[in-house]
Amino acid sequence: RNKLSILDPAIATSISRETERQEYGLEFIASENFVSEAVMEAQGSVMTNKYAEGYPGKRYYGGCEVVDVAEQLAIDRARELFGAEHVNVQPHSGSQANMAVYLTVCQPGDTVLGMNLSHGGHLTHGSPVNFSGKLFNIVPYGISEETGIIDYEEVAALARKHRPKLIVAGYSAYPRSLDFAAFRRIADEVDALLMVDMAHFAGLVAGGQHPSPVPHAHFVTTTTHKTLRGPRGGMILCTEEWGKKINSTIFPGIQGGPLMHVIAAKAVAFKEALAPEFKEYAAQVVSNARTLATELVQHGFKLVSGGTDNHLILVDFCGSEITGKMAEKALEEAGITVNKNSVPYDTRSPFVTSGIRIGTPAATTRGLKEEQMVKVAAWIKRAIDNIEHQDELARIRAEVKELCLEFPLYPDRLQS
Ligand code: PLP
Repeated sequence: RNKLSILDPAIATSISRETERQEYGLEFIASENFVSEAVMEAQGSVMTNKYAEGYPGKRYYGGCEVVDVAEQLAIDRARELFGAEHVNVQPHSGSQANMAVYLTVCQPGDTVLGMNLSHGGHLTHGSPVNFSGKLFNIVPYGISEETGIIDYEEVAALARKHRPKLIVAGYSAYPRSLDFAAFRRIADEVDALLMVDMAHFAGLVAGGQHPSPVPHAHFVTTTTHKTLRGPRGGMILCTEEWGKKINSTIFPGIQGGPLMHVIAAKAVAFKEALAPEFKEYAAQVVSNARTLATELVQHGFKLVSGGTDNHLILVDFCGSEITGKMAEKALEEAGITVNKNSVPYDTRSPFVTSGIRIGTPAATTRGLKEEQMVKVAAWIKRAIDNIEHQDELARIRAEVKELCLEFPLYPDRLQS
């Protein structure tokens, strides 16, 4: 029955090893989550076989009448979830969603104001190694060194000086909520358009635990696989006015056939996000992050901005011998997965860094609550204090595994 293990034992083994890694370790990477069996079932379905260039009702291929239903369900559910006028569920990734907005409103060489990567922005917000930095004239804004919070006065001053066509708000590593109304005021003042990239906090918006950017922004982009807990992919929400243009930038502009199996899985995830339990999950994500932040501060760690409003925490090791790279490795050996991350005004290279980013969505999906966050903070403290003591890290790993056994993730997927 299990054809994969017969046809391709190497890949079958890597999948079962990855299943064990996810099952027996604690996932605290802020951009990750665990999808439901239903989402995986849709993603692993025959929809992967179908070409469907175009949009529901207007395709360039025959035989699209069934996938049309799935894509329309994804669109309708996303519109309901976020109160958006127009939705495009076809972007293959968050990066492609962002690319589509840039290419819809900007010409190469136009000015875009985006958050500095080293202050928490994403690569696609203007990093020189990314298409965004190569195609557009990027003016970066950042956060205040004293407070760790975005300096809206600085954003306004940069906007007045550089007159960007587009202002991008959103982040990959910023532990506070954003003032969307302030961004919109700034955009209006300089005749710029506003794009909010809510990839990190989309699930918190859907679950009513974070202000929504939708009423403020011309465009809202997102990934569907982070706090929103869907399959890997992207999505664009925009005002009706921009709908047609966004659709044609995605297809035929930058993509060919949509991934219909992923779109079906997006529809499933949006249905899950519309259910009342999703609100509880989103509230728990935020509460877990607050508890973890408070505990880490009590253990003597310094946090960027001193705490968190959302699902993520940035631990700042500046001024100590410990680097983000060392901390990530020690925690991995202790069974806790996080990622090294530059902190604002970091003097170490992006390969080393002076921080780690810790996020609670995946652990929350698994069922962990405040009580377990207290334990996790204590393990993080022990691991960092014993950064080179392999025996102690192995002891923590065994304790972590015990906790994981109390909160099984995909028990039916484990091979005996
Ligand atoms: N936007 C933000 C804010 C992100 O954090 C990410 C991913 O980390 C992306 C966009 C890009 O998404 P993807 O990895 O799907 O291209």
